[in-house]
Amino acid sequence: MRGYLSLGSNLGDRSAYLIHALDALVSGGVRIIQTSSVYETRPVEVVDTQRNYYNLAVCMETHLSPHDLLSLCNAVENDLERERPYVHSPRTIDIDIILLEGITISTHRLRVPHPGMENRSFVILPLAEIAPDIVLPSGRPILNVKKALGDDEVVKTWKLNYG
Ligand code: ADP
Ligand code: MG
Repeated sequence: MRGYLSLGSNLGDRSAYLIHALDALVSGGVRIIQTSSVYETRPVEVVDTQRNYYNLAVCMETHLSPHDLLSLCNAVENDLERERPYVHSPRTIDIDIILLEGITISTHRLRVPHPGMENRSFVILPLAEIAPDIVLPSGRPILNVKKALGDDEVVKTWKLNYG
């Protein structure tokens, strides 16, 4: 099964958390095919003052089932001291499953494609960098969605030192 993950961090050493999360995913049975640049983005959907996020997208392949992949993502988050004091609270690491090729899931624990993806430039911009040809669940080409969202929330981008 091939698919795309979205990672984000806005607490502590954000770059280190991204790298540690990628390493931990690999140890758990995920093969990383490609990573996007890191996108520093202003927090959105939050009600308090938070630091900027470091976001990136990953193209990956795994033999894990979708629910086992989610369990791995949650285990990696817990290992990296992720706490959930309130909704949209700052986090050391957030790992979301964005798309899994040919798969649709809607359980209370897991929804794929990720429901919020097309409204979030911090998901769409990194994803468009590594998958510019994909058509999103709404039927729109990702580059159209990227153009519509714009890049106002992006502070800067740089290449990740990984692999
Ligand atoms: P956030 O919405 O800020 O990412 P969490 O990371 O705490 O918040 O996620 C909340 C819950 O979302 C998780 O416990 C998980 O079960 C659920 N969830 C549903 N679909 C997905 C998905 N595609 N990827 C990751 N988590 C998901
Ligand atoms: Mg999450």
